[in-house]
Amino acid sequence: MTIKIFNTLHKKKEDLITIRDDRVSMYVCGPTVYSYPHIGNARAAIIPDILFRLLKSSYKEVIYIRNITDVDDKIFDAAKKENIPFNEISEKFTKIYQNDMSALNILEPTFQPKVTDNIPSIISTIKKILDNGYAYISDEHVIFDTQKYNKYGELSKRSLDEMLDGVRIDVADYKNSPRDFVLWKPSKENQPGWDSPWGYGRPGWHIECTSMIKSIIGDDTTLDIHGGGNDLIFPHHENEIAQGSCMSEIKYCNYWFHNGIVLVNRKKMSKSLGNVILVNDLLKKYSSSTIRLALISAHYRQPLNWMDSTVTEANNLVKKFTSLANSRQLDIGEYDEPSEAINILSDDLNTPEIIKYLSALAKNAKTNDKDMASLIASCNFIGLNILDTSHVKRELPSNINVKKIDQLIKERLAAKKAGDYTKADEIRDKLSSMSIEIKDSKDNTSWQYNPD
Ligand SMILES: [Zn+2]
Repeated sequence: MTIKIFNTLHKKKEDLITIRDDRVSMYVCGPTVYSYPHIGNARAAIIPDILFRLLKSSYKEVIYIRNITDVDDKIFDAAKKENIPFNEISEKFTKIYQNDMSALNILEPTFQPKVTDNIPSIISTIKKILDNGYAYISDEHVIFDTQKYNKYGELSKRSLDEMLDGVRIDVADYKNSPRDFVLWKPSKENQPGWDSPWGYGRPGWHIECTSMIKSIIGDDTTLDIHGGGNDLIFPHHENEIAQGSCMSEIKYCNYWFHNGIVLVNRKKMSKSLGNVILVNDLLKKYSSSTIRLALISAHYRQPLNWMDSTVTEANNLVKKFTSLANSRQLDIGEYDEPSEAINILSDDLNTPEIIKYLSALAKNAKTNDKDMASLIASCNFIGLNILDTSHVKRELPSNINVKKIDQLIKERLAAKKAGDYTKADEIRDKLSSMSIEIKDSKDNTSWQYNPD
């Protein structure tokens, strides 16, 4: 199966061709941990999560790295306000982020490096860039020299003037050009920092990602996919390419993958507008499946406009799928591969098309086993929990007779009703010897073939 993905670097949809056939590496810029995650953060994690699931279905090995930025002025400011060490803020919000993401059924990445654990490797990356002549030291800062790197602007396709508009016109006289950016900056004695060859200080934001990628995949390896919100294209990802290309001869990354912003009632989320929607608050009202479905309802490259109807429509669909999936037992058998869902996602992660496909399956799933099985398997594939998997029977070996099992379960229920618990237990043991696991609920008994 060929996966097609829109590559920001070439502004077109391309076949994903990885460095190695059996392995794919992906890095996504993670959160700066100083506040509760909002739905924009959740979208930026769910979209790569869907891609991660898709890659796992095609590659033997998927290296998925999502970092935690736990060194940042915003974190320091929050700590100063509360008069506590900065790592108390970052540790608290790292835990909250990870809990919220796991509540949204987002799979844990293979690696989640933290900046504070990587200071020595960040220093060594900066040294390499300096040694190769692409940076200069000025007023205790180490600055990347964009004039030395002639491909600067390659990702964002911005002209020199546009780039100057895009960066905060920094009048700092330690920079040769306003486009130049900081690799290392000094910290005052009362500020968090680390000793380095350039004095006590801390890394700039852009170098953290480049260094953490290289410390995991190796200096001499090209990253297959780099993702993030499209607000990061310039200057963050542009700067990452510059750094990565100047610390090593090897191409930094082949595919750049960007998701669109989340708007609330067509407006940007902001504290001043008071329209920031936190994952934590949503989870009190809706299931993780509803929130996931709402967040993938627009194509990932488009902005997602969040309105009340976005979440109520998603909620209605999830309710419909859940009630269908739990309405009867099913032998999934040969239909348990969500092949059509994989097909649809392989075309640049077309999640709106997946939702159409699920709705079409739901129309016939009540009476059609194949559609029901596909519905369950496809929902499961994109991380929607519409079914407790214990309801799904595995394919049965030929020596297991369904009628006989149903008969034994009836006999056991009758024995229990009559107070003959010895007989009920004997029947349970008999079923267990046939690898049939039974589960009693208030109204009935379900069973599952479980040879493990
Ligand atoms: Zn980054």
